[in-house]
Amino acid sequence: MRLFFGLSPCPICKNQPSTALGCCKSCQKDLFKPLKNADSLALGPYRDKLELAIRHLKYHHVTGLAKLFAQELAKEIRRANWSADYVTAVPLHWKRYLSRGYNQSALVAKPLAHQLGIAYAPLLSRTQSTQQQAKLSKLEREKNVANAFKAKPVEGKRILLLDDVITTGATLRACQTCLYEAGAKEVKLVAIARAVQRLS
Ligand SMILES: [Zn+2]
Repeated sequence: MRLFFGLSPCPICKNQPSTALGCCKSCQKDLFKPLKNADSLALGPYRDKLELAIRHLKYHHVTGLAKLFAQELAKEIRRANWSADYVTAVPLHWKRYLSRGYNQSALVAKPLAHQLGIAYAPLLSRTQSTQQQAKLSKLEREKNVANAFKAKPVEGKRILLLDDVITTGATLRACQTCLYEAGAKEVKLVAIARAVQRLS
């Protein structure tokens, strides 16, 4: 690892000095390959540098990266011509919140709302502790999350719903359904990354 006088090295390439946005300038340039469809968008597939960057946000609390992700998401949301009243995030269960100390999706949702000039609102809460999703099959995940959330009333509101990584989408879809049932007019799904099929 190279040393930079007074600056910490980029956590992703370890080759350049980091910036206030949590990584070096060249990593910032090749981090994103946006994926978009009618009601969801992500900044890229969950692999390579983007996967590493999300891990640094999640486990090492590199908050500069939260600002960088928020900036890029705001750019993509404007490009897609989506407008909304609120940004909200998929909630962590309080037990996991206590063990980790913060919700990485809320960490991005707040600066994203700020960038877009709309309000951040915690509209969803968990009704039960879901098991660690990563260990479950697709069907088990869907069953597990279907009734795991409740929403505040959001009659006629347009909402951007943020999660860090879309894996099967079960969690986001369950939250989306829950918000529609609470009266939302439109719920768009926004993620930092979308999981891709891996060959094993
Ligand atoms: Zn770098």
